[in-house]
Amino acid sequence: MIRFLTPATSTPLKANLVLLPGDGIGPEIVAQAQRVLEVISERYGHQFEFSSHMIGGIAIDTCGDPLPQETIDACRGSDAILLGAVGGPKWDDPSAKTRPEVGLLKIRKELGLFANLRPIRLFDELLDASPLRREIIEGTDILFLRELTGGIYFGESGKTGSGDTESAYQSMVYSVGEVERIVRLAAKAAKGRDNRLTSVDKANVLEPSRLWRRVAARVMAEEFPDVEYDVVLVDAMAMHLINRPGDFDVVVTGNMFGDILTDEASMLPGSLGMLPSASLGNGGPGLYEPIHGSAPDIAGKGVANPLGTILASAMLLRHSLELEAEADAVEVAVQRVLSDGLRTHDIARGGDAIGTEAMGSSVVERLRI
Ligand code: NAD
Repeated sequence: MIRFLTPATSTPLKANLVLLPGDGIGPEIVAQAQRVLEVISERYGHQFEFSSHMIGGIAIDTCGDPLPQETIDACRGSDAILLGAVGGPKWDDPSAKTRPEVGLLKIRKELGLFANLRPIRLFDELLDASPLRREIIEGTDILFLRELTGGIYFGESGKTGSGDTESAYQSMVYSVGEVERIVRLAAKAAKGRDNRLTSVDKANVLEPSRLWRRVAARVMAEEFPDVEYDVVLVDAMAMHLINRPGDFDVVVTGNMFGDILTDEASMLPGSLGMLPSASLGNGGPGLYEPIHGSAPDIAGKGVANPLGTILASAMLLRHSLELEAEADAVEVAVQRVLSDGLRTHDIARGGDAIGTEAMGSSVVERLRI
């Protein structure tokens, strides 16, 4: 199970939840997660109010802006946000004025969402869907924390020269404060799990990584001496993830390394459709989404796997609303659906498959039992 800090509470709660279905399969999968959250609110006596807003390609088509001000305001005033996905071939023109992904980057920035949490957990029922051998991946349960608003993706960039002498650059910058806050969050997460934290950097080559390593070591020694802590170079980590993924508990790293490593790790369970993620900041609303994109190849066909989004709603219950028991209930319902043999096409491995809505209904039914 995914564990993180918060204790269980059964006090009835009012929460204002913003849905950002977005593009492609986004609306189909968010609708199923909403049904799950509605059942949770009924069953546990909470009051969840939902409002749906535009982001991404649909927002460009409707008002020329991938993140309208109205969406930003709604997100700011909410307790948590559930996002489907943005993008698709319709908006891929490289000469277009704006792109759907701009909406996503901007909402993270607007809400100060500096930490991306990506749990990589393997369901026993799906072990055979992994490209790796069962004995390697069995027991894998990693929580990645990727720094989201700093590092090379936000560093100064530019071009000089032209033709054969043209060159381009992009700076990687990390400050002490940026490293401290993500390492603290990761260490707290480790305390709620198996109490082990691995920090990944490239300190043998990169100056910002040397700062990262020094600051992380100080935070861990001063504030979390009881958490087992080690450091691994990013190139070695890329190998360990394939070789011995079961050895890691919580992993913290910078923006670019996290981007690459979490995508590598997302292949371990064998399906993109099963994995949730959360982006958290300092106390404001968190943003929850599946890790996959808008899957334009299957959009509108009713076959997308909604379980990643449903598991993202479990993360929302746990991290933003502090409803641990409710989050557990959703995860157990997903597990039951899988042990009962129900599969969408992406995880069916040639066997019988059910559609998006039927999968949502199966989770809802198991929550009602
Ligand atoms: P993708 O994740 O959308 O799809 C990759 C493959 O996985 C496709 O074959 C798709 O059908 C399948 N797939 C994805 N989610 C699935 C689900 N829930 N159930 C069953 N199958 C699923 O990646 P892509 O095709 O590279 O990108 C499509 C669009 O999504 C692009 O415009 C890209 O920029 C965008 N994108 C958005 C996000 C986001 O919103 N966070 C993330 C990644 C990509």
